[in-house]
Amino acid sequence: MLKRKEIEKNEERYLASYAMHSAQTGGRAYKEKEHDYRTVYQRDRDRVIYSTAFRRLEYKTQVFVNHEGDHYRTRLTHTLEVAQIGRTIARALRLNEDLVEAIALAHDLGHTPFGHSGEKALHEIMKDHGGFEHNSQGLRVVDYLEERYPNFQGLNLSFEVREGIIKHATPYDMPRRVIAFEREGSPLLEIQVVDIADEIAYDNHDLDDGLASELVNEKALSRIGLWRDVYKDVQKRWPSARDGVKRRQTIRNLINLQVSDLLKETESRIKKFHIKGSEDVRRMPEKIITFSPGMRERRKALKEFLLKELYNHYRVVRMSNKAYRFVQELFKVYLDKPMQLPPATQFYLKKDDPYRVICDYIAGMTDRYALDEYKKFFAPYEKV
Ligand code: MG
Repeated sequence: MLKRKEIEKNEERYLASYAMHSAQTGGRAYKEKEHDYRTVYQRDRDRVIYSTAFRRLEYKTQVFVNHEGDHYRTRLTHTLEVAQIGRTIARALRLNEDLVEAIALAHDLGHTPFGHSGEKALHEIMKDHGGFEHNSQGLRVVDYLEERYPNFQGLNLSFEVREGIIKHATPYDMPRRVIAFEREGSPLLEIQVVDIADEIAYDNHDLDDGLASELVNEKALSRIGLWRDVYKDVQKRWPSARDGVKRRQTIRNLINLQVSDLLKETESRIKKFHIKGSEDVRRMPEKIITFSPGMRERRKALKEFLLKELYNHYRVVRMSNKAYRFVQELFKVYLDKPMQLPPATQFYLKKDDPYRVICDYIAGMTDRYALDEYKKFFAPYEKV
């Protein structure tokens, strides 16, 4: 039988020297007996999966609001794609795959409903009350808002997973028990992997969803070199395949192309900069996990295209502006009479500023819960 101690020993053998080894963890804020069969990061991953915030990702969106269609990405499916891409990269580079998975699954827990317009609305209201930022909120979720254990608030995750969630955002207005992040220097390679896997995932799936929804025009897209080359290749190999299949094959090959480029470039950078241990990673002023200069250029053109054609598409702007307005209106309604908050949320009024309590409450909502709440307050015949 494989016990934790042996898994930790195996890590010594099969992980690279610059990987984060489970046995070397900075540990948890509250001392706990470690598990017999799971390493610290495997256990953190499981704590994330069982959290309420994780389940809510299913009904939170980024670009397309939930009722636009059932086959668009949600934050949950996005999160799974980030974990998949991240694990592939981690395994190829002999990094700690469990740590990457735990961070990837947790990386979006602090997001509001309706993507960035929800965040923007909350940030504006919270300007004079400590502000709002999704990475800091993610840490607040796992450190404070999740209630599961009798002896402490939050999930008591390891230092490295928490560092991966906060990234480099400045922790402001942190709840009582957050340890300061005194660690200087660049983030661990596992954290860099999740960051870049996140980017690869959303660029490509936004493109995929954008095409499926017909908000993105395929003809216009053919001006972009990266897409054009991969599509041409698909077209050559399967000229009679249906359009949707060609599109999916192109997306698939695009992801593969970018991940392969990333792996090659990273491998050569590890050699070039003599990265031997995680301390070498920390002292590097620049990121180690990155694309080749050529791929960076090509991706830039694709990103600019997405910004112009999809994120600034009039229907997407309408969706986000509508969300922005009613997140603000909901906030006002609760603030006007906090007694309208459900009892479990009112409980926090005893310890926190009402602004922060309402902010946490709204940030935790799914898109559809927020829509339901809005209806309850503003539609006269709706049950409250
Ligand atoms: Mg993300």
